[in-house]
Amino acid sequence: MKKRLLRELPSVDELLRSGPLKEAASLYSLPLVTGAVRKALEEARSGILSGSATGVSFDRLVEDSLMGIRRALSSNVRRVVNASGTVLHTNIGRAVLSEEAVEAVMRASGNINLEFDIERGERGERDSLVEDLVKRLTGAEAATIVNNNAAAVLLTLNSLAEGKEVVISRGELIEIGGSFRLPEIIKKSGCVLKEVGTTNRTHPQDYSEAITGNTALLFKAHTSNYTVVGFTSEVALQKLVAIGTERSVPVVEDLGSGSLVDLSKYGLPKEPLVSESIGAGADVVTFSGDKLLGGPQCGIVAGKKEFVDRIRKNPLKRALRPGKLTLASLEATLRLYLDPERLPQRLPTLRHLSRPLGDIEESAKKAASLISDFLGPSFTVSVEDDHSVVGGGSLPGHRLPTKVVAVTHESAGPERIMRLFLDSTHCILGRIKKERFLLDMRTVEEAADVVPSVRF
Ligand SMILES: *Cc1c(COP(=O)(O)O)cnc(C)c1O
Repeated sequence: MKKRLLRELPSVDELLRSGPLKEAASLYSLPLVTGAVRKALEEARSGILSGSATGVSFDRLVEDSLMGIRRALSSNVRRVVNASGTVLHTNIGRAVLSEEAVEAVMRASGNINLEFDIERGERGERDSLVEDLVKRLTGAEAATIVNNNAAAVLLTLNSLAEGKEVVISRGELIEIGGSFRLPEIIKKSGCVLKEVGTTNRTHPQDYSEAITGNTALLFKAHTSNYTVVGFTSEVALQKLVAIGTERSVPVVEDLGSGSLVDLSKYGLPKEPLVSESIGAGADVVTFSGDKLLGGPQCGIVAGKKEFVDRIRKNPLKRALRPGKLTLASLEATLRLYLDPERLPQRLPTLRHLSRPLGDIEESAKKAASLISDFLGPSFTVSVEDDHSVVGGGSLPGHRLPTKVVAVTHESAGPERIMRLFLDSTHCILGRIKKERFLLDMRTVEEAADVVPSVRF
Protein backbone atom coordinates (compact mmCIF):
# COMPACT_ATOMS: atom_id res chain seq x y z
CA MET A 1 0.00 0.00 0.00
CA LYS A 2 2.72 2.50 1.05
CA LYS A 3 4.82 1.47 -1.95
CA ARG A 4 1.92 2.09 -4.29
CA LEU A 5 1.28 5.55 -2.77
CA LEU A 6 4.95 6.45 -3.10
CA ARG A 7 4.97 5.30 -6.74
CA GLU A 8 1.93 7.48 -7.44
CA LEU A 9 3.65 10.68 -6.30
CA PRO A 10 4.40 12.96 -9.27
CA SER A 11 7.99 13.85 -10.19
CA VAL A 12 9.54 17.26 -9.59
CA ASP A 13 9.35 17.93 -13.34
CA GLU A 14 5.67 17.04 -13.55
CA LEU A 15 4.90 19.45 -10.73
CA LEU A 16 7.02 22.18 -12.31
CA ARG A 17 4.96 21.85 -15.52
CA SER A 18 1.75 22.73 -13.64
CA GLY A 19 0.33 26.20 -14.36
CA PRO A 20 0.84 27.87 -10.95
CA LEU A 21 4.39 26.57 -10.50
CA LYS A 22 5.35 27.43 -14.07
CA GLU A 23 4.21 30.96 -13.32
CA ALA A 24 6.13 30.99 -10.03
CA ALA A 25 9.28 29.85 -11.86
CA SER A 26 8.93 32.78 -14.26
CA LEU A 27 8.65 35.24 -11.35
CA TYR A 28 11.22 33.85 -8.93
CA SER A 29 14.49 31.99 -9.30
CA LEU A 30 14.24 28.40 -10.51
CA PRO A 31 16.31 26.95 -7.60
CA LEU A 32 13.90 28.59 -5.15
CA VAL A 33 10.87 27.04 -6.84
CA THR A 34 12.50 23.64 -7.37
CA GLY A 35 13.62 23.63 -3.74
CA ALA A 36 10.08 24.25 -2.55
CA VAL A 37 8.71 21.50 -4.81
CA ARG A 38 11.33 19.01 -3.56
CA LYS A 39 10.52 19.91 0.03
CA ALA A 40 6.76 19.42 -0.54
CA LEU A 41 7.45 16.01 -2.11
CA GLU A 42 9.77 15.04 0.72
CA GLU A 43 7.13 15.90 3.29
CA ALA A 44 4.52 13.93 1.37
CA ARG A 45 6.89 10.94 1.23
CA SER A 46 7.59 10.97 4.95
CA GLY A 47 3.86 11.40 5.62
CA ILE A 48 3.16 8.25 3.62
CA LEU A 49 5.98 6.30 5.26
CA SER A 50 4.87 7.21 8.76
CA GLY A 51 1.30 6.24 7.86
CA SER A 52 -0.10 9.71 8.62
CA ALA A 53 -0.99 10.35 4.94
CA THR A 54 -3.11 7.97 2.87
CA GLY A 55 -2.44 9.57 -0.46
CA VAL A 56 -1.47 13.07 -1.53
CA SER A 57 -3.20 14.82 -4.42
CA PHE A 58 -1.37 16.63 -7.20
CA ASP A 59 -3.15 19.89 -6.36
CA ARG A 60 -2.22 19.60 -2.71
CA LEU A 61 1.45 19.20 -3.67
CA VAL A 62 1.25 22.31 -5.86
CA GLU A 63 -0.39 24.22 -3.00
CA ASP A 64 2.28 23.07 -0.52
CA SER A 65 5.04 24.08 -2.95
CA LEU A 66 3.53 27.56 -3.37
CA MET A 67 3.30 27.89 0.40
CA GLY A 68 6.98 26.93 0.65
CA ILE A 69 7.88 29.63 -1.89
CA ARG A 70 5.89 32.24 0.05
CA ARG A 71 7.63 31.20 3.27
CA ALA A 72 11.07 31.44 1.67
CA LEU A 73 10.30 34.93 0.35
CA SER A 74 8.89 36.37 3.55
CA SER A 75 11.07 37.89 6.22
CA ASN A 76 11.95 36.04 9.40
CA VAL A 77 11.64 39.35 11.20
CA ARG A 78 7.99 39.87 12.01
CA ARG A 79 6.29 42.78 13.65
CA VAL A 80 4.92 41.92 17.10
CA VAL A 81 2.27 44.02 18.82
CA ASN A 82 3.15 44.14 22.50
CA ALA A 83 -0.05 43.58 24.49
CA SER A 84 1.80 41.34 26.95
CA GLY A 85 1.66 43.67 29.92
CA THR A 86 5.46 43.80 30.14
CA VAL A 87 6.69 47.18 28.94
CA LEU A 88 10.32 46.10 28.37
CA HIS A 89 9.89 42.52 27.13
CA THR A 90 13.28 40.96 26.37
CA ASN A 91 11.85 38.29 24.02
CA ILE A 92 10.39 40.89 21.67
CA GLY A 93 13.25 43.37 21.66
CA ARG A 94 12.77 45.43 24.84
CA ALA A 95 12.57 49.20 24.25
CA VAL A 96 10.61 50.57 21.29
CA LEU A 97 12.76 53.20 19.60
CA SER A 98 11.66 56.82 19.34
CA GLU A 99 10.96 58.39 15.95
CA GLU A 100 14.19 60.33 16.32
CA ALA A 101 16.16 57.12 16.90
CA VAL A 102 14.54 55.41 13.91
CA GLU A 103 15.45 58.37 11.72
CA ALA A 104 19.03 58.18 12.97
CA VAL A 105 19.21 54.47 12.12
CA MET A 106 18.11 55.25 8.57
CA ARG A 107 20.69 58.01 8.24
CA ALA A 108 23.38 55.67 9.57
CA SER A 109 22.53 52.93 7.09
CA GLY A 110 24.68 54.79 4.58
CA ASN A 111 28.21 56.00 5.22
CA ILE A 112 28.64 58.19 8.28
CA ASN A 113 31.46 59.71 10.35
CA LEU A 114 31.62 56.57 12.49
CA GLU A 115 35.34 56.66 13.16
CA PHE A 116 36.17 59.72 11.16
CA ASP A 117 36.84 63.17 12.55
CA ILE A 118 35.45 65.45 9.84
CA GLU A 119 37.01 68.64 11.22
CA ARG A 120 40.51 67.20 11.30
CA GLY A 121 40.00 65.07 8.23
CA GLU A 122 41.43 62.02 9.89
CA ARG A 123 40.59 58.86 11.75
CA GLY A 124 38.46 59.43 14.83
CA GLU A 125 37.05 57.54 17.76
CA ARG A 126 33.75 55.63 17.57
CA ASP A 127 32.76 56.54 21.13
CA SER A 128 33.01 60.25 20.35
CA LEU A 129 29.57 60.10 18.69
CA VAL A 130 27.94 59.69 22.10
CA GLU A 131 30.54 60.20 24.80
CA ASP A 132 29.84 63.89 25.47
CA LEU A 133 26.12 63.21 25.84
CA VAL A 134 26.71 60.37 28.31
CA LYS A 135 29.10 62.58 30.28
CA ARG A 136 26.60 65.41 30.37
CA LEU A 137 23.69 63.22 31.43
CA THR A 138 25.54 61.22 34.08
CA GLY A 139 28.25 63.55 35.34
CA ALA A 140 30.90 60.94 34.43
CA GLU A 141 34.36 61.95 33.21
CA ALA A 142 34.35 59.45 30.36
CA ALA A 143 32.25 56.74 28.71
CA THR A 144 32.51 53.90 26.26
CA ILE A 145 29.87 51.77 24.55
CA VAL A 146 29.67 48.00 23.94
CA ASN A 147 27.03 45.61 22.61
CA ASN A 148 25.03 45.06 25.78
CA ASN A 149 25.34 45.47 29.52
CA ALA A 150 26.55 41.89 29.97
CA ALA A 151 29.48 42.83 27.70
CA ALA A 152 30.00 46.03 29.69
CA VAL A 153 30.35 44.01 32.90
CA LEU A 154 32.62 41.42 31.28
CA LEU A 155 34.88 44.04 29.72
CA THR A 156 35.08 46.14 32.89
CA LEU A 157 36.00 43.13 35.03
CA ASN A 158 38.55 41.83 32.54
CA SER A 159 40.15 45.26 32.07
CA LEU A 160 40.42 46.16 35.74
CA ALA A 161 40.73 42.88 37.62
CA GLU A 162 42.08 40.05 35.43
CA GLY A 163 43.85 37.46 37.59
CA LYS A 164 42.76 39.28 40.73
CA GLU A 165 39.99 39.16 43.29
CA VAL A 166 36.63 40.87 42.96
CA VAL A 167 34.74 41.33 46.22
CA ILE A 168 30.94 41.10 46.01
CA SER A 169 28.10 40.53 48.47
CA ARG A 170 26.36 37.13 48.46
CA GLY A 171 23.08 39.03 48.30
CA GLU A 172 24.05 40.46 44.90
CA LEU A 173 25.19 37.36 43.01
CA ILE A 174 22.44 37.85 40.49
CA GLU A 175 21.14 35.87 37.57
CA ILE A 176 19.41 37.79 34.80
CA GLY A 177 17.21 35.89 32.34
CA GLY A 178 19.00 34.37 29.37
CA SER A 179 21.93 32.91 31.30
CA PHE A 180 23.67 36.00 32.61
CA ARG A 181 24.99 34.80 35.96
CA LEU A 182 27.33 37.15 37.72
CA PRO A 183 29.57 34.44 39.27
CA GLU A 184 30.08 32.93 35.78
CA ILE A 185 30.79 36.29 34.17
CA ILE A 186 33.36 37.03 36.85
CA LYS A 187 35.07 33.69 36.14
CA LYS A 188 34.95 34.18 32.37
CA SER A 189 36.47 37.63 32.83
CA GLY A 190 39.50 35.92 34.34
CA CYS A 191 38.78 37.22 37.83
CA VAL A 192 38.45 35.44 41.15
CA LEU A 193 35.12 35.88 42.91
CA LYS A 194 35.35 36.66 46.59
CA GLU A 195 31.89 36.41 48.13
CA VAL A 196 31.20 38.25 51.37
CA GLY A 197 28.27 38.52 53.78
CA THR A 198 25.16 36.38 53.55
CA THR A 199 22.15 36.26 51.22
CA ASN A 200 20.16 38.74 53.28
CA ARG A 201 22.79 40.75 55.15
CA THR A 202 26.17 42.19 54.29
CA HIS A 203 28.00 44.72 56.46
CA PRO A 204 30.80 47.23 55.74
CA GLN A 205 33.35 45.21 57.67
CA ASP A 206 32.59 42.14 55.51
CA TYR A 207 34.07 44.08 52.61
CA SER A 208 37.01 45.59 54.47
CA GLU A 209 38.00 42.26 55.99
CA ALA A 210 37.94 40.60 52.56
CA ILE A 211 40.41 43.01 50.99
CA THR A 212 43.89 41.53 50.49
CA GLY A 213 46.91 42.47 48.42
CA ASN A 214 45.29 40.64 45.52
CA THR A 215 41.97 42.52 45.58
CA ALA A 216 41.37 44.54 42.42
CA LEU A 217 37.74 45.64 42.74
CA LEU A 218 34.80 46.09 45.06
CA PHE A 219 31.76 45.23 42.99
CA LYS A 220 28.16 46.21 43.57
CA ALA A 221 25.31 44.80 41.50
CA HIS A 222 21.85 46.29 41.47
CA THR A 223 19.42 43.49 42.33
CA SER A 224 17.31 44.51 39.42
CA ASN A 225 14.90 41.61 39.03
CA TYR A 226 14.07 40.75 42.61
CA THR A 227 13.75 42.37 46.02
CA VAL A 228 15.08 41.00 49.27
CA VAL A 229 12.66 41.82 52.04
CA GLY A 230 12.60 41.19 55.77
CA PHE A 231 15.73 41.09 57.93
CA THR A 232 18.09 42.60 55.39
CA SER A 233 21.01 44.96 55.19
CA GLU A 234 23.21 46.00 52.33
CA VAL A 235 26.14 48.36 52.18
CA ALA A 236 25.25 51.59 50.40
CA LEU A 237 27.43 52.57 47.46
CA GLN A 238 28.67 55.64 49.31
CA LYS A 239 29.96 53.52 52.20
CA LEU A 240 31.55 51.07 49.75
CA VAL A 241 33.31 53.98 48.03
CA ALA A 242 34.62 55.15 51.41
CA ILE A 243 36.09 51.70 52.06
CA GLY A 244 37.52 51.53 48.54
CA THR A 245 39.10 54.97 48.83
CA GLU A 246 40.67 54.16 52.18
CA ARG A 247 42.14 50.89 50.89
CA SER A 248 42.88 52.11 47.33
CA VAL A 249 40.54 49.63 45.67
CA PRO A 250 38.28 50.92 42.86
CA VAL A 251 34.52 50.43 43.10
CA VAL A 252 32.39 49.27 40.17
CA GLU A 253 28.61 49.28 40.16
CA ASP A 254 26.50 47.28 37.69
CA LEU A 255 23.23 49.22 37.69
CA GLY A 256 21.56 46.98 35.12
CA SER A 257 18.80 49.29 34.04
CA GLY A 258 19.89 52.55 35.54
CA SER A 259 17.92 55.64 34.79
CA LEU A 260 19.01 59.00 33.43
CA VAL A 261 16.01 60.88 34.84
CA ASP A 262 14.23 60.70 38.16
CA LEU A 263 11.19 58.59 37.30
CA SER A 264 9.27 59.91 40.30
CA LYS A 265 8.86 63.14 38.29
CA TYR A 266 6.58 61.13 36.02
CA GLY A 267 4.64 59.44 38.81
CA LEU A 268 6.72 56.25 38.84
CA PRO A 269 8.78 54.79 41.65
CA LYS A 270 12.37 55.84 41.62
CA GLU A 271 14.96 53.60 39.96
CA PRO A 272 18.61 54.35 40.85
CA LEU A 273 20.03 57.16 38.74
CA VAL A 274 23.35 56.73 36.98
CA SER A 275 24.27 60.28 38.01
CA GLU A 276 23.71 59.37 41.68
CA SER A 277 26.13 56.45 41.45
CA ILE A 278 28.70 58.64 39.74
CA GLY A 279 28.04 61.37 42.32
CA ALA A 280 28.50 58.86 45.16
CA GLY A 281 31.98 58.23 43.81
CA ALA A 282 31.69 54.95 41.90
CA ASP A 283 34.76 54.60 39.69
CA VAL A 284 32.83 52.79 36.95
CA VAL A 285 29.09 52.30 36.42
CA THR A 286 27.62 49.94 33.81
CA PHE A 287 24.04 49.96 32.49
CA SER A 288 21.86 48.89 29.55
CA GLY A 289 20.81 51.01 26.57
CA ASP A 290 17.54 49.18 25.95
CA LYS A 291 16.03 49.01 29.41
CA LEU A 292 14.68 52.15 31.12
CA LEU A 293 16.91 54.31 28.95
CA GLY A 294 14.63 53.40 26.06
CA GLY A 295 17.23 53.06 23.31
CA PRO A 296 18.89 50.31 21.26
CA GLN A 297 20.51 47.21 22.72
CA CYS A 298 23.92 48.28 24.03
CA GLY A 299 25.91 48.52 27.22
CA ILE A 300 27.23 51.79 28.58
CA VAL A 301 30.37 52.04 30.71
CA ALA A 302 30.64 55.43 32.42
CA GLY A 303 33.09 56.57 35.03
CA LYS A 304 36.48 58.04 35.85
CA LYS A 305 38.66 58.67 32.83
CA GLU A 306 41.59 56.68 34.14
CA PHE A 307 39.47 53.49 34.32
CA VAL A 308 37.38 54.07 31.19
CA ASP A 309 40.64 54.56 29.24
CA ARG A 310 41.92 51.21 30.48
CA ILE A 311 38.63 49.58 29.47
CA ARG A 312 38.71 51.20 26.03
CA LYS A 313 42.27 49.99 25.41
CA ASN A 314 41.46 46.35 26.19
CA PRO A 315 41.75 44.33 22.95
CA LEU A 316 38.45 42.66 23.90
CA LYS A 317 36.77 46.03 23.32
CA ARG A 318 37.28 45.50 19.58
CA ALA A 319 35.28 42.28 19.80
CA LEU A 320 32.49 43.87 21.81
CA ARG A 321 32.10 47.22 20.07
CA PRO A 322 28.67 48.22 18.74
CA GLY A 323 27.85 48.92 15.09
CA LYS A 324 26.98 52.27 13.55
CA LEU A 325 23.21 51.66 13.65
CA THR A 326 23.40 51.17 17.40
CA LEU A 327 25.56 54.22 18.03
CA ALA A 328 23.37 56.42 15.83
CA SER A 329 20.16 55.41 17.56
CA LEU A 330 21.77 55.67 21.00
CA GLU A 331 22.88 59.20 20.22
CA ALA A 332 19.40 60.21 19.07
CA THR A 333 17.87 58.62 22.18
CA LEU A 334 20.28 60.37 24.56
CA ARG A 335 19.64 63.70 22.84
CA LEU A 336 15.94 63.46 23.81
CA TYR A 337 17.01 63.58 27.46
CA LEU A 338 18.28 67.12 26.97
CA ASP A 339 14.60 68.17 26.88
CA PRO A 340 13.08 66.39 29.93
CA GLU A 341 9.77 68.25 29.57
CA ARG A 342 8.96 66.57 26.29
CA LEU A 343 10.63 63.25 27.12
CA PRO A 344 7.41 61.36 28.05
CA GLN A 345 5.88 62.23 24.67
CA ARG A 346 8.94 61.43 22.60
CA LEU A 347 10.44 58.39 24.33
CA PRO A 348 8.07 55.41 23.87
CA THR A 349 9.32 53.55 26.97
CA LEU A 350 8.55 56.50 29.23
CA ARG A 351 5.32 57.24 27.36
CA HIS A 352 4.13 53.68 28.00
CA LEU A 353 5.23 53.68 31.64
CA SER A 354 3.56 56.99 32.44
CA ARG A 355 0.45 56.58 30.28
CA PRO A 356 -2.65 57.79 32.18
CA LEU A 357 -5.11 55.04 33.15
CA GLY A 358 -8.01 56.90 31.54
CA ASP A 359 -6.18 56.91 28.24
CA ILE A 360 -5.48 53.16 28.48
CA GLU A 361 -9.13 52.53 29.32
CA GLU A 362 -10.36 54.50 26.34
CA SER A 363 -8.09 52.49 24.06
CA ALA A 364 -9.20 49.21 25.70
CA LYS A 365 -12.88 50.03 25.14
CA LYS A 366 -12.26 50.83 21.50
CA ALA A 367 -10.22 47.64 21.02
CA ALA A 368 -12.84 45.51 22.79
CA SER A 369 -15.57 46.73 20.47
CA LEU A 370 -13.46 46.20 17.33
CA ILE A 371 -12.40 42.69 18.44
CA SER A 372 -15.95 41.74 19.37
CA ASP A 373 -17.27 42.93 15.98
CA PHE A 374 -14.60 40.96 14.15
CA LEU A 375 -14.76 37.70 16.11
CA GLY A 376 -18.52 37.47 16.43
CA PRO A 377 -20.95 36.29 19.14
CA SER A 378 -19.19 33.06 20.13
CA PHE A 379 -16.58 35.22 21.86
CA THR A 380 -16.98 37.31 24.99
CA VAL A 381 -14.86 40.45 25.05
CA SER A 382 -14.65 42.73 28.09
CA VAL A 383 -12.51 45.47 29.60
CA GLU A 384 -11.03 44.75 33.02
CA ASP A 385 -8.59 46.05 35.63
CA ASP A 386 -5.16 44.47 35.85
CA HIS A 387 -1.50 45.32 36.30
CA SER A 388 1.42 45.77 33.92
CA VAL A 389 5.04 45.27 34.91
CA VAL A 390 8.09 47.20 33.74
CA GLY A 391 10.22 44.16 32.85
CA GLY A 392 13.80 44.11 31.63
CA GLY A 393 14.92 43.78 35.22
CA SER A 394 13.67 47.25 36.12
CA LEU A 395 11.62 48.30 39.12
CA PRO A 396 11.19 44.72 40.39
CA GLY A 397 7.97 44.03 42.21
CA HIS A 398 6.38 47.23 41.00
CA ARG A 399 2.97 46.88 39.37
CA LEU A 400 1.36 49.56 37.24
CA PRO A 401 -2.46 49.65 37.28
CA THR A 402 -3.73 49.07 33.74
CA LYS A 403 -6.76 48.08 31.66
CA VAL A 404 -6.87 44.83 29.73
CA VAL A 405 -9.18 43.39 27.11
CA ALA A 406 -10.20 39.86 28.18
CA VAL A 407 -11.16 37.54 25.32
CA THR A 408 -12.93 34.25 26.04
CA HIS A 409 -14.77 31.77 23.81
CA GLU A 410 -17.80 29.56 24.46
CA SER A 411 -15.75 26.38 23.94
CA ALA A 412 -12.10 27.12 23.01
CA GLY A 413 -9.55 27.49 25.80
CA PRO A 414 -7.15 30.40 26.31
CA GLU A 415 -4.22 28.69 24.53
CA ARG A 416 -6.23 28.39 21.33
CA ILE A 417 -7.28 32.04 21.54
CA MET A 418 -3.68 33.07 22.18
CA ARG A 419 -2.67 31.11 19.04
CA LEU A 420 -5.32 32.92 16.97
CA PHE A 421 -3.82 36.29 17.92
CA LEU A 422 -0.23 35.09 17.39
CA ASP A 423 -1.15 33.81 13.91
CA SER A 424 -2.54 37.18 12.78
CA THR A 425 -0.81 39.17 10.03
CA HIS A 426 1.01 41.22 12.62
CA CYS A 427 1.61 38.87 15.50
CA ILE A 428 -0.34 40.04 18.60
CA LEU A 429 1.25 39.01 21.87
CA GLY A 430 -1.13 38.93 24.84
CA ARG A 431 -0.89 36.78 27.92
CA ILE A 432 -2.83 34.13 29.77
CA LYS A 433 -3.75 34.76 33.37
CA LYS A 434 -5.98 32.49 35.41
CA GLU A 435 -7.06 30.56 32.31
CA ARG A 436 -8.08 33.72 30.45
CA PHE A 437 -6.52 35.43 27.46
CA LEU A 438 -5.74 39.10 28.10
CA LEU A 439 -4.49 42.00 25.98
CA ASP A 440 -2.84 44.78 27.99
CA MET A 441 -3.43 48.05 26.15
CA ARG A 442 -0.73 50.10 27.97
CA THR A 443 1.89 49.51 25.28
CA VAL A 444 -0.46 49.39 22.28
CA GLU A 445 -0.36 52.57 20.18
CA GLU A 446 -3.53 52.01 18.11
CA ALA A 447 -6.59 50.08 19.29
CA ALA A 448 -6.90 48.52 15.82
CA ASP A 449 -3.44 46.92 16.24
CA VAL A 450 -4.88 44.23 18.52
CA VAL A 451 -7.69 43.14 16.21
CA PRO A 452 -6.77 39.71 14.81
CA SER A 453 -6.78 39.12 11.06
CA VAL A 454 -8.02 35.53 11.28
CA ARG A 455 -11.03 33.79 12.86
CA PHE A 456 -11.65 30.26 14.09
C1 LIG B 1 19.84 43.44 32.59
C2 LIG B 1 21.03 43.39 33.45
C3 LIG B 1 22.25 42.93 32.96
C4 LIG B 1 22.41 42.47 31.55
O1 LIG B 1 22.19 43.54 30.66
P1 LIG B 1 21.94 43.24 29.09
O2 LIG B 1 21.86 44.59 28.50
O3 LIG B 1 20.70 42.44 29.01
O4 LIG B 1 23.13 42.48 28.61
C5 LIG B 1 23.32 42.90 33.82
N1 LIG B 1 23.21 43.29 35.11
C6 LIG B 1 22.05 43.73 35.62
C7 LIG B 1 21.99 44.15 37.06
C8 LIG B 1 20.92 43.79 34.82
O5 LIG B 1 19.74 44.22 35.32
